[in-house]
Amino acid sequence: MLTYWAERAWLEAGVAEGVAIETAEGRITSVVAGVEPAGAEVLRGLVMPGLANAHSHAFHRALRGRTHGEGGTFWTWRDQMYALAERIDPDAYFRLARAVYAEMALAGITCVGEFHYLHHAPGGRPYTDPNAMGQALIAAAADAGIRITLLDALYLAGGFGEPLDGVQRRFGDGGLESWMNRVDKLEAAPHALVGTAVHSVRAVPETAIEAFACSTEGRPVHVHVSEQRAENEACRAEHGCSPTELLERCGLLGPDLTAVHATHPAGGDLELLRRSGATVCLCPTTERDLADGIGPARAMAEAGIPLSLGTDSGAVIDMFEEARALEMHERLVSERRGHFAPGELLGAATRHDSLGWGDAGAIAPGRRADLVAVDLDSPRTAGIAPEGILYAATAADVTDVVVDGRRVVADGRHTAVDAAAELAESIGELWR
Ligand SMILES: [Zn+2]
Repeated sequence: MLTYWAERAWLEAGVAEGVAIETAEGRITSVVAGVEPAGAEVLRGLVMPGLANAHSHAFHRALRGRTHGEGGTFWTWRDQMYALAERIDPDAYFRLARAVYAEMALAGITCVGEFHYLHHAPGGRPYTDPNAMGQALIAAAADAGIRITLLDALYLAGGFGEPLDGVQRRFGDGGLESWMNRVDKLEAAPHALVGTAVHSVRAVPETAIEAFACSTEGRPVHVHVSEQRAENEACRAEHGCSPTELLERCGLLGPDLTAVHATHPAGGDLELLRRSGATVCLCPTTERDLADGIGPARAMAEAGIPLSLGTDSGAVIDMFEEARALEMHERLVSERRGHFAPGELLGAATRHDSLGWGDAGAIAPGRRADLVAVDLDSPRTAGIAPEGILYAATAADVTDVVVDGRRVVADGRHTAVDAAAELAESIGELWR
């Protein structure tokens, strides 16, 4: 049993002072506010629940700051992403992902949903262990001390009616059955769950989505949806409907589904998502980096659709930035302030159920002991009202992180991984 004492903590009812958080075997057993530290492990600043990064592609982190040259479009970004994907093998992936997940831990992220599609060796040849790449990601998360839901993605086509081409062959399993056989061999671990994904309606034909929908057995299912208008137009030309309508037609919409992005929902899409109980995962910093557009977050929230947040391409790994972007982007679009309450933004940044960890994401008895202490005395945060933390702090203000009761970050340093050095080394190696 270990008791933490938080100077301040963001509990379900709001921010409280002098909070004793008792933990045992990785769970919170009691929470009492308004008490003295009395021998407990002290956490200064404001302690928040662990942050959930619901959408990540770890290897994209190696593109950060390298795709902004003159004339850089979405397609030049994708070309570079494909060039990068050519170079990664399981060892390189492990080293890169370990550093990326350590960067996430330092940012207060205690759980990642890794949308995994880089499966096979060049040409699509399976590795000796056909799950070598996925296992590398699971091992990397263990080293970095965070939980992972490996969302293994079905990827069968290079576009509507097009075969896989070039590096895309590394993504594909040839068919639904071989994908299922491989994914069935992935093993969960105390820190790891195996979820599933359909890469997108571009990458999986309708008949395969239908068959997929019958085979997910209550696991989390994630799918990229309507990230760009061009995807909607191509889907309409091919199927006569929007991507969300196609997913509905295939029987894939439901409470286990997370629609990633949904930046450009068509007329009835939000109603379909609401009725099904699906979650939408917005990735605002990537959506602006790739010039995708601004998703209608407030309209989604108003429709009663649960929202989660992801760092996606890792152009930025900072859940404070993702959370406040929900509000800030709405302000730019509407020319009005005041769309989301701070508690709603925190709810999106800590939503774990769409990753299969419904017992995380709040500082309350029975929940996983995930605690994130944020400095209230940094140049960014000094003098703020603690409730305004999501509008002021950055990932750099996270000082201490506890995941499942284990200290992963102490005094702003990762306890096991030198993230900056390992990022520089692993990314340098890939581009050499
Ligand atoms: Zn993505």
